[in-house]
Amino acid sequence: MTPKVAAYLRDVAPATPCLVLDVDRVEQNYRRLMAAMPLARVYYAVKANPATPILERLVGLGSSFDAASLEEVQACIAAGARAEAISFGNTVKKESAIRTAYAAGVRMFAFDSEAELKKLARSAPGARVYCRILVGNDGAEWPLSRKFGCEIGMAKDLMVQAGELGLDPYGISFHVGSQQTKTAAYEVAIGRVAMLFTDLAEAGVNLRMVNLGGGYPVRYRQEVPEIDDFGAAIMGAMAEHFGNALPEIVIEPGRFIVGDAGVVSAEVVLVSRKAKDDPVRWVYLDIGRFGGLAETEGEAIKYAFRTPHDGAADGPVTIAGPTCDSTDTLYEKSNYRLPLALESGDRVELLSTGAYVTTYASQAFNGFRPLAEHYV
Ligand SMILES: *Cc1c(COP(=O)(O)O)cnc(C)c1O
Repeated sequence: MTPKVAAYLRDVAPATPCLVLDVDRVEQNYRRLMAAMPLARVYYAVKANPATPILERLVGLGSSFDAASLEEVQACIAAGARAEAISFGNTVKKESAIRTAYAAGVRMFAFDSEAELKKLARSAPGARVYCRILVGNDGAEWPLSRKFGCEIGMAKDLMVQAGELGLDPYGISFHVGSQQTKTAAYEVAIGRVAMLFTDLAEAGVNLRMVNLGGGYPVRYRQEVPEIDDFGAAIMGAMAEHFGNALPEIVIEPGRFIVGDAGVVSAEVVLVSRKAKDDPVRWVYLDIGRFGGLAETEGEAIKYAFRTPHDGAADGPVTIAGPTCDSTDTLYEKSNYRLPLALESGDRVELLSTGAYVTTYASQAFNGFRPLAEHYV
């Protein structure tokens, strides 16, 4: 937790549940990433946290943006981003959204299928397009599986076709899965992209850009490699596979930029046991799966907790949200322990929750309001 967030929680004590996020930390993270990968251009993945104070700060720093929808494109423009600094990175777009984004000046689009390519040819003529390929997501705690990307052979044919359709065949992208803890995931993917560059050059299509996607991890309960380790592995692999003919390098960090800038402040609603001598206590919070903690599904992302009793004796707990839905149980199998002194009314903090929380909050499931947000 940054000193600014700690001071805000202490002095203002905002009603829970809420996210308090330090926008200065966003700037620091952006600068750390640029230092780790000076040759890369940062396209912030807006979906991680689209709050205006974050977008405005990043615009001021010269960041570009990866938008997943027309609404995100418009949020970036409203925050002061130039349309040329926006990539429409979702491979699944309504044609009306493509048309409107193109009319607003967006000129870079992702695709992973022939049908999408044809939409782009019709509604974004001449635009720079990049094809997303499928790569392994091993090592990712929040994998993106097979939903996006296509096989490499198909990507080759589609990039040839892109040129024939009057589009600018610009580059190749991949995403190694979010909260990726293994630098090797990028190295393997870069090798595959380099082969595709060679194949396409032989077919007369000279690509100019590699988009390494996001995935750069945040520290939750477990240590993760430093961003410098990712930078070194990635730049080493780029040099190994591309030599002196380095293409433009794009990265699309989301979680890394905003994750550790934010803290969710919550209240303990109840501490109970299922039997008198059951060692496991159930701790119910006023935030759960539907209040924004969607990434606890499958106990995939394991947030670290702070309580007023840290350091005192603790015991095993199951941690759950406040709604009357049994899937609103956050952690049952991940060996969480919390202080024995914890009781109803205590405030607890969930650390490094600046990414993928506010926008995952449901509208008013069970009457619980969406998460309140404070940017400091
Ligand atoms: C979600 C997403 C990102 C951001 O991923 P992080 O793991 O948060 O860095 C980047 N690019 C694309 C295409 C995405 O879908």
